[in-house]
Amino acid sequence: MRILWTGIAALALAMPAAAQTLGEQVKAEMPSLVDIYADLHAHPELSFHEVRSAGILAAEAKRLGFEVTEKVGGTGVVAVMKNGPGPVVLVRADMDGLPVTEQTGLPGASKVRVTTDEGVDTGVMHACGHDTHMTSWIGVARLMAANRANWSGTLVMVGQPAEERGAGARMMLEDGLYTRFPKPDYAIAFHDAAQFPAGKIGYTPGYALANVDSVDITVKGVGGHGAYPQTTRDPIVLASRIVGALQTLVSREVSPLDSAVVTVGSFHAGAKHNIIPDEAKLQLTVRSYTDAVRDQLLDGIARIAKGEGIAAGLPDNKLPVVTVDRDEYTPSTYNTPEFTEEMATLLKTRFGEARVVKMPPVMGGEDFGRFSRDDKSIKSMIFWVGGVPADEYAAAQKDGRALPSLHSPFWAPDAPAVISTATEALTAMAMELMGKG
Ligand SMILES: [Zn+2]
Ligand SMILES: [Zn+2]
Repeated sequence: MRILWTGIAALALAMPAAAQTLGEQVKAEMPSLVDIYADLHAHPELSFHEVRSAGILAAEAKRLGFEVTEKVGGTGVVAVMKNGPGPVVLVRADMDGLPVTEQTGLPGASKVRVTTDEGVDTGVMHACGHDTHMTSWIGVARLMAANRANWSGTLVMVGQPAEERGAGARMMLEDGLYTRFPKPDYAIAFHDAAQFPAGKIGYTPGYALANVDSVDITVKGVGGHGAYPQTTRDPIVLASRIVGALQTLVSREVSPLDSAVVTVGSFHAGAKHNIIPDEAKLQLTVRSYTDAVRDQLLDGIARIAKGEGIAAGLPDNKLPVVTVDRDEYTPSTYNTPEFTEEMATLLKTRFGEARVVKMPPVMGGEDFGRFSRDDKSIKSMIFWVGGVPADEYAAAQKDGRALPSLHSPFWAPDAPAVISTATEALTAMAMELMGKG
């Protein structure tokens, strides 16, 4: 038995690269990709500051023969490989880390600390797993370059800044991503996932992630002594009424068949037991899929805040002030349904039915949707690749313990499983879309 296996291994080594399967080629790249991952993980950079990370992507793509342009939309990288006639395929990875102090206790944990643009001293961590995205991006670039003879078309590899701010994709598009570089027929990407086991693939045809808006409400009042409320206009009572009334937007105004969330995540007012303050501040996150529901929610919030202010007897110049920038938001991500099903079939054939599962949409946000939002002729798909280490997932299934989510200081994915799965999946998809038939 031993002799037989050694013989097969020797045979595999003797085979030229082109004769290797895609899976074998990914496997051969893994030691180097794991090193790159470790380096990226130890050196996370905040949104708009991804200079070192972008440099690593750019240098690798240049080495592989891509035409590379840096500083697109801030720190963005665009690497183009023109390889004959055929479709244009865009592969995107986001590059930013988060202001989270890593607490995984792992040997390769990030020790980076910075002072943010807002002046806050914080640790920095790839708590959303964008380091696995960048590493897989490099894996895809390597494999597509190595297999150039087997596809025809134009590959546009995009390293995107500032996903966590919901701004990076918009900035790259505004900086001419689709005018200075070939405009894609297809846009593909993945995100690591903290809710299923390492190496499992999840896909969602249609709306996959939500519109995300941040809304601030400043509720003004007239402050005074807590013992003499009749001399005041209490902003805490008014803000409480607003919070209560906001609950009716989703429950009474939006169709039960549409998805929507209005969460008041922050309510700040006052400093002492016996003082009625003159102001209260609310911070909301507002989520939806369609533009119509989004408008309905944002209009409804403004109406309720104003209406409750009037009901409280406030003069016009003291009515609650609602602040929301309708252009600065993360738009919902829509996976072209037929295209997504086609790609899912391809992935099921490659990885097996059990490893590729359809999953319901989530109310989280991702600015990948921007790449196809304004031009429906661009077919797009973002899929999930599970990152929870197998033993941890099994233990959680058994005793019901909570697993760390994305953005958690404890998020420690099985990075090799994520990177090898995503690299193989994205390369197989790009090769299929630009196949020579
Ligand atoms: Zn994130
Ligand atoms: Zn993310």
